Amino acid sequence: MPTNICRNLVTGGAGFLGSHLVDRLMETGNEVICLDNYFTGNKLNIARWIDHPNFELIRHDVTEPIKLEVDRIWHLACPASPIHYQNNPVKTAKTSFLGTYNMLGLARRVKARLLMASTSEVYGNPQVHPQPESYPGSVNPIGIRACYDEGKRIAETLCFDYQRMHQSEIRIARIFNTYGPRMLPNDGRVISNFIVQALKGESLTIYGDGSQTRSFCYVKDLIEGLILLMEGNHSGPINLGNPTELTIRELAETVCQQINPSLALVEKPLPTDDPIRRKPIIKLAKEQLGWEPTYNLKQGLKPTISYFRSILSNNLGR
Ligand code: NAD
Ligand code: UDP
Repeated sequence: MPTNICRNLVTGGAGFLGSHLVDRLMETGNEVICLDNYFTGNKLNIARWIDHPNFELIRHDVTEPIKLEVDRIWHLACPASPIHYQNNPVKTAKTSFLGTYNMLGLARRVKARLLMASTSEVYGNPQVHPQPESYPGSVNPIGIRACYDEGKRIAETLCFDYQRMHQSEIRIARIFNTYGPRMLPNDGRVISNFIVQALKGESLTIYGDGSQTRSFCYVKDLIEGLILLMEGNHSGPINLGNPTELTIRELAETVCQQINPSLALVEKPLPTDDPIRRKPIIKLAKEQLGWEPTYNLKQGLKPTISYFRSILSNNLGR
């Protein structure tokens, strides 16, 4: 898919998804300003572009306004893993609300199109399964995940109010669990935990009985979906995720098979408000963007395991 050559701002560009998006935009000849406060991001993720004439790096917190001249704003800045977003929940809520508000203000001033990275977490613990975009969700507004879930919900609200009030061009991606190289080894997410535990020869920690489900999308597929959404004509929200649903126990068994089948699985307490099931309906993405995932779990786990193996052996993880 050819990308229009334009000036792109990627907030959260030094993070996991942001840095893959930066790669994709740079590789297709675009100009990129990468903006990050390095809370969970890492300069190493975008180090290869630092001396490139099309690339600029800005240390900035999206809760503060900023003035830049750009055509596209890819607004990804926000910690995504529960242990990171729960570390300072007030800051997470501020990042979602003020960060999106500031980026929408910038988009309005310079007439840029803005894509906001929302999440399947807006569906909360869903009472409808699988989840279509029309499902309004079932979120506990006072729970420990609310700073993130409700933060993304108000961010979506702001985007649509800017569209209605100011005719802003917005795109909203509801991203389901995504994995791949550059995830942090200590971010507490299930894929990174299981792979790191297996590579270290430790037991895999299953929270609860492992019957809860998730649907895991490989990062390359997800980035393709974001590009198609930004350049397409549909504002969204559009689900972007892999509809293959599996239990967390099945995930643990698959990771063990690929690394060390003799490892044990141990049960730990299920965190509060942990959603019981999660699976996207991607009919809208197929119809509007011609998008669907191409990597199955085994194909995506292979490069992800190689990445974790290499950072563990180089001791570059934080
Ligand atoms: P990540 O934590 O790797 O990346 C987030 C980036 O944003 C980091 O580089 C971090 O330093 C930066 N950041 C955080 N707060 C900031 C602030 N106030 N100002 C400037 N920069 C800030 O997470 P990710 O997995 O790459 O997620 C990127 C986006 O996608 C997030 O908005 C997240 O909510 C969304 N998302 C991700 C997933 C997933 O499975 N990875 C699923 C749903 C939604
Ligand atoms: N999980 C687990 N063991 C771990 C880490 C997570 O069983 O070591 C579970 C977690 O309780 C949840 C699922 O895996 O049910 C996905 O967790 P993650 O934090 O990756 O994503 P999210 O819950 O935000 O979808």
